[in-house]
Amino acid sequence: MRFTLLICTFIAMACQPKSNQMVAQKNSNSKIETIEKSESEWRAELNDAEFRVLRKAGTERAFSGDLWDHKGDGVYTCRGCQLPLFDSKTKFKSGTGWPSYYKPFNDVNVGEDTDYKIGYARTEVHCARCGGHLGHVFNDGPEPTGLRYCINSVSLDFVERDSVPSLINSGQE
Ligand SMILES: [Zn+2]
Repeated sequence: MRFTLLICTFIAMACQPKSNQMVAQKNSNSKIETIEKSESEWRAELNDAEFRVLRKAGTERAFSGDLWDHKGDGVYTCRGCQLPLFDSKTKFKSGTGWPSYYKPFNDVNVGEDTDYKIGYARTEVHCARCGGHLGHVFNDGPEPTGLRYCINSVSLDFVERDSVPSLINSGQE
C-alpha cells in the first residue's frame, strides 16, 4: 500500500513539470491576441470594398487597387486592425495586378487556411489578429522563399518606415 502510494506520488511529480511545459509552449506560439468584432461593427468601420474582401473573402479586380504598383519604404499593415503584415523590402513586381510579397513581416502575423472556392485547393492567408482575409500564397515566388503572397490592396494600408517603431510597439505585445 505504501509502495503504491509512493509510485503514485512519483508519477504525479513526474507529470507535473511536463504539463506545465506544454502550456508554456502553447502560449509562446500564440503571441497574437485576436480581435473579435460583430459583422455590424466591421460594416461601420470598413467601406464596401474593404468589407467584401476582408470579411467576406472577396477579391478585388486585378490592377484596380492602389498598392499593386506602389513603391515606398515602410510596412504594409492590416486595414482592419493595423497589424504589420508585410515589409516593403519583400515586395516584388509579379505582373499579376495585386501587391505581391515573398514573405510576411512576421510569420505569426499571417495565418493560413485552405480554400476550395474555385474548385481546387489554394492556401488562403489572413490577418492573425482580426482574421481579415488578405489573399492567397502560392509556390511560384522569387528567392529566398519561393513564395508569392498575392494580396488585395484594399486589405492593406501603407506606413512609412519612420513611423514603424511606434506602430510595432502599439501593435504587438
Ligand atoms: Zn487585422
